[in-house]
Amino acid sequence: MGDNQHMTDLPTAGDSGWSDPDTLGAIPPVIAMTYCARCGTSASKGNHVLCRQQLATEPPIHCTTCRRTLAVDRSGSDWTATCKKHGQTTGTLTSA
Ligand SMILES: [Zn+2]
Ligand SMILES: [Zn+2]
Repeated sequence: MGDNQHMTDLPTAGDSGWSDPDTLGAIPPVIAMTYCARCGTSASKGNHVLCRQQLATEPPIHCTTCRRTLAVDRSGSDWTATCKKHGQTTGTLTSA
């Protein structure tokens, strides 16, 4: 008695292709980013959610490749950030 084990009630992960609502749409494809453009620490460590939010309204501070401080030139909502080693990056800020 009691030999019947019913272990099939647990839902199996990965069968429904669910999507994380936080990643829908807004986030552009990320190209190998080593450092956080905002705080300059390793992009793969820690939490940079706030950094990303700020990068929508403020130009980046650090080169994502070498972590150097960028020379930022800003006019209106457009910015040009120059790394001595990696050249220019341009972008447009989202004005809230
Ligand atoms: Zn950061
Ligand atoms: Zn650089």
